[in-house]
Amino acid sequence: MLEARRIVGLWYHRAPVTRFLIAVDFDGTITQRDTLHLIVERFGDRSVWDSVTPDVIAGRMSVEEAMQLEFATVRATPGQIHDLVRDAAGIREGFVDFVMWARGAGHQVHVFSNGFRSVITDVLARIGLADLPFDAHDAVFSAEGTELVWTDRGTRCTLCDRPCKRADLARLRGEYPVAYIGDGVSDRCVCGAADVVFARWELADWLAGQDRPFHAFDDFHDIRQQLEAIAKRGIR
Ligand SMILES: [Mg+2]
Ligand SMILES: [Zn+2]
Repeated sequence: MLEARRIVGLWYHRAPVTRFLIAVDFDGTITQRDTLHLIVERFGDRSVWDSVTPDVIAGRMSVEEAMQLEFATVRATPGQIHDLVRDAAGIREGFVDFVMWARGAGHQVHVFSNGFRSVITDVLARIGLADLPFDAHDAVFSAEGTELVWTDRGTRCTLCDRPCKRADLARLRGEYPVAYIGDGVSDRCVCGAADVVFARWELADWLAGQDRPFHAFDDFHDIRQQLEAIAKRGIR
């Protein structure tokens, strides 16, 4: 029975993939610059970011603890936040075309972010993708201070001991193989649940250090090309 399942599994993965769930991180992946970093740099105390980042990368502090410390210093109106993101975040080359292609090819695209709903909504509307679904936390910005609003991701992840994107992915994945695209610390745990991983920057360094397979990318044209080839030949 086990053997039969293994053979069916191999057949499944070697068959062309007609539908991926394409799971995409937002900050530093869809955007060229991390909007959280931009906001803290401009409206908060950037020395807090500099002092906690090494601890986050090394795994001594959770992403959420770091965000709490960083955003405690941010004072700005929602209008100032949106103006800054518009001017400075940038969109990674090829993203809009990539989503159009993916949808046309029958894949599902969903954004999994550890950032903020209000920021993401504004960016997606501006690039004509207001209907692109996403999961994220949120922040209430004001000139007096910022309040982070955490989305309930269920109980803490048993693998990384934090409210992890894995919970959001598990809710959505269904029977389809997952292609995960990301760049940072909040993508580390969840990309272990994906069938194919596209990584850049810190996530790529971390995966390489762990000897785990991933596809490097600079822009979304790269990803489309690679994903088309993988879909055609099957995953393994
Ligand atoms: Mg990111
Ligand atoms: Zn996790």
